[in-house]
Amino acid sequence: MVTLTIDGRQFRAEEGQTILEVARDNGIDIPALCYNEGVEPYGACRLCLVEISKNGQTRLVASCLYPVEEGLVVNTASERVLANRRMLVELLLARCSRVKLIEDLARKLGVDKPSFRPEYLENEECILCGLCVRACREVVGTSAISLVNRGVNRQVAPPFLETAPDCIGCGSCAFVCPTNCIKMEDRDGTRVIHNWNVEFKLQKCKVCGNYFAPEKQLEYIRNKLNLPEGFFDTCPNCR
Ligand code: SF4
Ligand code: SF4
Repeated sequence: MVTLTIDGRQFRAEEGQTILEVARDNGIDIPALCYNEGVEPYGACRLCLVEISKNGQTRLVASCLYPVEEGLVVNTASERVLANRRMLVELLLARCSRVKLIEDLARKLGVDKPSFRPEYLENEECILCGLCVRACREVVGTSAISLVNRGVNRQVAPPFLETAPDCIGCGSCAFVCPTNCIKMEDRDGTRVIHNWNVEFKLQKCKVCGNYFAPEKQLEYIRNKLNLPEGFFDTCPNCR
């Protein structure tokens, strides 16, 4: 165990925990758009930055990546932290001017509108947090999509910006996306994920007749867990 100070209060924490985890466990709100407990932290959005003091020196670090240390002093809302967060949210607002999550965060930080708004960035919905890519790789295990290109052309995409042959249609990427910009729909026995240009036939339950999951996803799970043929003939409710 280590003892650290966050915003003037002392906390005991497990070694290996990050500042963000300890802060959130103790009700201290630090914004973090690219963070999800289910996947490895990545530090993409940088909004979770905090000021740490150690050996008489202070610096800004991404709290989702920085592990707690004995005697660490953390300030989650110093003037320096807030000024940097405002700048980051202004950049996000310039890119995603109509994403409610970003608008709400900007308002909370006192940012009305970005001081610039280049045409080529306006009205994007993806904040490039990479959560979809990490969920696909780490949780699902398929790596069907990735972050590609640099600068203003950075985007999440299937291979060669075409289709995602390794996608199993599980929808985990859409589930974790904080801005809901991954468009997935189930209709007439088919699941379509528009962002990755993929389409899947859904499995129909042999008992109730409801469609419940993409056949490709069920086949993937069946092979991975070595389940018998016909295991997914019925849906979880009828099993
Ligand atoms: S739906 Fe496709 S891209 Fe999304 S997490 Fe599942 S396998 Fe990956
Ligand atoms: S599509 Fe969603 S989850 Fe993926 S990087 Fe963009 S905002 Fe994040």
